[in-house]
Amino acid sequence: MNNININSKRVFFRNDRSPNPENGYVLYWMQANRRFQYNYALEYAVGWANKLDKPLLIYEELRCDSPWASERFHHFIMEGMQENLDYTREHQLNYYAYLEEESGAGNELVYSLAENACTVITDEYPVFIIRDRNRKISQELNIPYITVDSNGLIPLGLTEKAPYNAYFFRKIMQQNFIDCYTHPPQKNPLRQLENQEKITFRDDLLEKYSQAEKHLKNRDSFICNLPINHKVMKTELKGTRQAALGKLGQFIQYGLPKYDEKRNDPDENTTSGLSPWLHYGKISEYEIVDAVLDHQPKGWSLDNITFNNGSTGGFFNGDPNINSFLDEVITWREVGFHFAHHEENYDHYESLPDWALETLQKHKDDPREYLYTLEEFAQSQTHDEVWNAAQTQLREEGVMHNYLRMLWGKKVLEWTPNPESALAYLIELNNRYALDGRDPNSYSGIFWIFGRFDRAWQERPIYGKVRYMTSKSTRKKVKLKQYLKRYGNQKQLL
Ligand SMILES: Cc1cc2nc3c(=O)[nH]c(=O)nc-3n(C[C@H](O)[C@H](O)[C@H](O)COP(=O)(O)OP(=O)(O)OC[C@H]3O[C@@H](n4cnc5c(N)ncnc54)[C@H](O)[C@@H]3O)c2cc1C
Repeated sequence: MNNININSKRVFFRNDRSPNPENGYVLYWMQANRRFQYNYALEYAVGWANKLDKPLLIYEELRCDSPWASERFHHFIMEGMQENLDYTREHQLNYYAYLEEESGAGNELVYSLAENACTVITDEYPVFIIRDRNRKISQELNIPYITVDSNGLIPLGLTEKAPYNAYFFRKIMQQNFIDCYTHPPQKNPLRQLENQEKITFRDDLLEKYSQAEKHLKNRDSFICNLPINHKVMKTELKGTRQAALGKLGQFIQYGLPKYDEKRNDPDENTTSGLSPWLHYGKISEYEIVDAVLDHQPKGWSLDNITFNNGSTGGFFNGDPNINSFLDEVITWREVGFHFAHHEENYDHYESLPDWALETLQKHKDDPREYLYTLEEFAQSQTHDEVWNAAQTQLREEGVMHNYLRMLWGKKVLEWTPNPESALAYLIELNNRYALDGRDPNSYSGIFWIFGRFDRAWQERPIYGKVRYMTSKSTRKKVKLKQYLKRYGNQKQLL
């Protein structure tokens, strides 16, 4: 597909089948990046449709049998799907939404839609059910199944092995930043679509589609009957692209100017809060980076960038707040994607670095002063006020401040019988409650607690040489008064 101007390191041919030009359309299955703008995979699918002179069918689904499916995530995703439905109606695009009502009922749908497709293009995503589905389905279809990486700025195919720390990845990022940034995804790839024919469906498919339209309108009554977790309730955050863009605008105005100095203070609320929308792909990392760079001081240009061999400060130059934010959203966000892309067992305890496995093993039987069960953790029932407040924010609002998230994880390691159960508890708590959970960054954040991407520190009980944090020093280091007032006194739910 040399007529489509996308870095080949973003494109993965998952089988070696040839397109079937007799079939009716090109199928784009929107799995991870649920947006129509700045989306390389969609752009690539439009390129195929134009090349074959076929219409494009965009398919988006929501399954009720996904691990950790709950009211919280269903509301968030369905709000986004309603927005996508409205957009495609307004622009007369072929969009097929599907909402699964019984566990397993949707297994066959993508195969039914693929029956009439010349080729399938979908999102490359290195973790969770999307990774496994892409592997399985690509082998079962007799048409090409191509995954395209629209996750970040640095293409996943550009790294050759799993980066073992942020410094290693930052070096690669710095070497490639200008090239990647100056070859952005198109803002509106669907404007390039040539064949605008309306696709007609079999009666059974039409029936499923009209059910989905109805359910999107009656979200509450649809969701309340599904076989999903009804104890994890919806939050005030809306899962739309519009909400994501609003959040970005607010952050640039109020948070960014103080980001470098105040980002660790829970009371200050200076971080972007964008991770839920980044997770569901409602907003692209490129457009965040672009909007932020637009606020560099007058006179700044890409010529001011200086390669500094992987160090944090002084690469972007200009405003230190921008430098600090871009290091989080590019380096720290993407190191997790690249790690999972290369590491088959990204979510297994054994994938920790050798030094961490060794030291945690040595301290496995160290006595623990406090031990809690999973549900005691879940309901904020520890002896520690700061920990309980952080967990309450996560349980009630689906988000947690980054600095407290580190402390939160470290304490679970300390208060469980062994590191393997601590890991299992953290994955469960994070993915059960966090809107941004089930993401490559869920695993990089959680595994960081146990030493991934970090180095050895002074040896102590339980942690061994893994980095240690305490609520006492957190209280001294960051501003927490308002935070504790807000989340510290909430009624416990047990
Ligand atoms: C135990 C633990 C679990 C975590 N689980 C998740 C998770 O499930 N999903 C998730 O997206 N992040 C996770 N993180 C990383 C980080 O806490 C969040 O990305 C960040 O708090 C999101 O808030 P924000 O959008 O306001 O971040 P901002 O500070 O505004 O940063 C902007 C974006 O940069 C990225 N980012 C920022 N900090 C980090 C970081 N330390 N690591 C990776 N990416 C970062 C995120 O995409 C974030 O949205 C976890 C960290 C820890 C320690």
